[in-house]
Amino acid sequence: MTKPPLTLYLAAPRGFCAGVDRAIKIVEMALSKWGAPVYVRHEIVHNEYVVDDLRAKGAVFVEELDECPTDRPVIFSAHGVPKSVPAEAAARQMLYVDATCPLVSKVHIEAERHHENGLQIVMIGHAGHPETVGTMGQLPDGEVLLVETPADVATLDVRDATRLAFVTQTTLSVDDTAEVVAALQTRFPAIVGPHKEDICYATTNRQEAVKAMAERAEAMLVVGAPNSSNSKRLVEVGARAGCAYAQLVQRATDIDWRALDGIRSMGITAGASAPEVLVNEVIDAFRARYEVTVEIIETAQENVEFKVPRVLRERV
Ligand code: SF4
Repeated sequence: MTKPPLTLYLAAPRGFCAGVDRAIKIVEMALSKWGAPVYVRHEIVHNEYVVDDLRAKGAVFVEELDECPTDRPVIFSAHGVPKSVPAEAAARQMLYVDATCPLVSKVHIEAERHHENGLQIVMIGHAGHPETVGTMGQLPDGEVLLVETPADVATLDVRDATRLAFVTQTTLSVDDTAEVVAALQTRFPAIVGPHKEDICYATTNRQEAVKAMAERAEAMLVVGAPNSSNSKRLVEVGARAGCAYAQLVQRATDIDWRALDGIRSMGITAGASAPEVLVNEVIDAFRARYEVTVEIIETAQENVEFKVPRVLRERV
């Protein structure tokens, strides 16, 4: 039986960012330096495949520090941690390595600098996401107020409307965040913030590529995990840019083939924590059913790389 033709648009950039790459490298290098087990507080990056792979190599994933023994190294995830976490590790005399993405650490430093200047901080982010918890936890309770939507801005109860700064989570939708920033600036004209916002290069680039792809593809799949903020934003950006069917899939087995019946063009991208092996798995699933022609939609080139902490670069 002949297969129907399908143009498969592949977004570039897609998948792993420099922060995720570094965090995974940190766990692998820690395992080779200190042997197994190495403890990791929270999923190192939000992807089950990556976590399972590291678990098979000897990493033990826990949610809280008190689940770790004091005689084994512990690594903090790429999303960042509240100040209380390294403080507790130091108090328990544990060996710890911080895999917080340098672009998240930059936001932590920004928040601290504003606090030192006497400003109260408004954080634009998602409640309960580990990055938001980590950034808010850089300062004492009450010093960082969280908003998620423009509606939240209207009800914000601040200490002094003339002494405010804002920071953002790094993995938000660029367009949604611009709306929240505009609402903040309207209600608090004196509020200070970063030049644009703190959304990182990887998030921005992946969203731009999705917008370009949405103009051509009838349907779109984002390879990523349901707890990955940047992956979920890619689905929203695709849908908002006019793609009639935009879905998140973790693996090829999640593809709803019935929903894709009759399509002739398809877009594929991946969140910053999704490995390329899973993108290839999805492409192969399409090749099995269609006569596929791949077209790359490239909107940016990336050459960002972050160094791993010195302790892992030193010889034993
Ligand atoms: S998505 Fe951005 S902030 Fe998050 S780990 Fe990647 S580069 Fe860092």
